[in-house]
Amino acid sequence: ENKDWQAAIRVIEKIEKAGFEAVVVGGAVRDFLLKQQVHDVDVATSAMPNEIKKIFSSTVDIGIAHGTVLVLDEGQPIEVTTYRTEGIYIDFRRPEEVTFVKSLEKDLQRRDFTINAMAMTKNGELIDIYGGKDDIEHQIIRAVGDPNSRFREDALRMLRAVRFSAQLGFSLEKNTLKAIQQDSELIEFIAKERIHMELSKMWMTQNVYAGVNALVDSNLAKYLKGNFRKNLEDWKYFNSNRSEVGWAYLCLLNRTNLNEIIDFYKLSNREKNFIRTVLNCYQALLNHWNELDYFQYDLSTLEVAYDFAIWQQKKVPFRKEHIALVKSSLPIQSLNQLAVNGTHFKEWASKKGGPWMKVALDAALVAVLKGHVKNDEQHLKEWFLNEFNIEG
Ligand code: ATP
Ligand code: MG
Repeated sequence: ENKDWQAAIRVIEKIEKAGFEAVVVGGAVRDFLLKQQVHDVDVATSAMPNEIKKIFSSTVDIGIAHGTVLVLDEGQPIEVTTYRTEGIYIDFRRPEEVTFVKSLEKDLQRRDFTINAMAMTKNGELIDIYGGKDDIEHQIIRAVGDPNSRFREDALRMLRAVRFSAQLGFSLEKNTLKAIQQDSELIEFIAKERIHMELSKMWMTQNVYAGVNALVDSNLAKYLKGNFRKNLEDWKYFNSNRSEVGWAYLCLLNRTNLNEIIDFYKLSNREKNFIRTVLNCYQALLNHWNELDYFQYDLSTLEVAYDFAIWQQKKVPFRKEHIALVKSSLPIQSLNQLAVNGTHFKEWASKKGGPWMKVALDAALVAVLKGHVKNDEQHLKEWFLNEFNIEG
């Protein structure tokens, strides 16, 4: 079966051999029971970080303060974390310091939702103290323990509940939802970087519309930028496996307050560049793409802009397949394929270089793209001499 899972089993066996406990925990157990693709397989152990480092020859300290050591087992990275609780919560945020504990039960108790609070032994025995398996069967996201206290400990959990509802297509358990509605304003205490991370994950899920609905129902939308309540229906068809597409779409739906969104969510330069390009491309689509648009935007950018129009149920008079077809049948695919450059123009015009050359090059590019002139030196020379009224 799964490679990561096998590596985790090998790691557990070595830890047990050294006299400690170790189990698979969290998301991997949840996804295993859901028969979904398991990605990171996390291991929890009774061994202290320094003891883990003694057992394995190759480790990386990725979060020693939180008790996490990355073990490289035959090249496969597995995160191994010592059983812990989270100590004291201040200002509704997750604490920096943790307390190591001896029992797995205590470790599972600090976890956010029942579906994330299960463990599995190397033999596949499920340790399920909070009814996570039942909640998976009923497709429910339920806080471990009293939901209000858990959200007051770490308010990000409210947004995680929404994100998991979108990721798994589950609903929020009644009391868990009620608690979020009561505590929603606490999300203002959470660092924007953590909010950014959760929403980035949410954009890549299969049920973003359900997630945005949950944001609105839970009242969280009120304390986040983006007018989710007002724009709800624009999210109905949204679907992407790239988080930056989600951010760009959010920006599009809020383009009159673009900078507010960018600042609030602390979008990165990479995200900002992508957003600028896609929004320009989308604007060009509304004015009907010409040859230059097909030439200068990447196929993926054109397709994202096309999706934006479709998701908003705007009429686009061609099919998506058409984009790749038009783009690939352009006379040239990149500027270096143009048969002439500035040096040619200078020679033909017997003029010194200057801003006029850029004008001429742009005009030549458009003429070639539109098929007004063949892309070879001879035809371009004739075109140039004629276009710029130069005596031959
Ligand atoms: P995925 O990787 O699919 O996003 P995951 O369950 O692995 O899902 P992570 O954010 O990677 O989610 O966290 C790993 C585990 O750590 C969770 O399953 C949960 O048990 C615990 N956890 C993470 N964040 C919190 C939190 N804020 N409060 C309590 N427990 C948490
Ligand atoms: Mg994970």
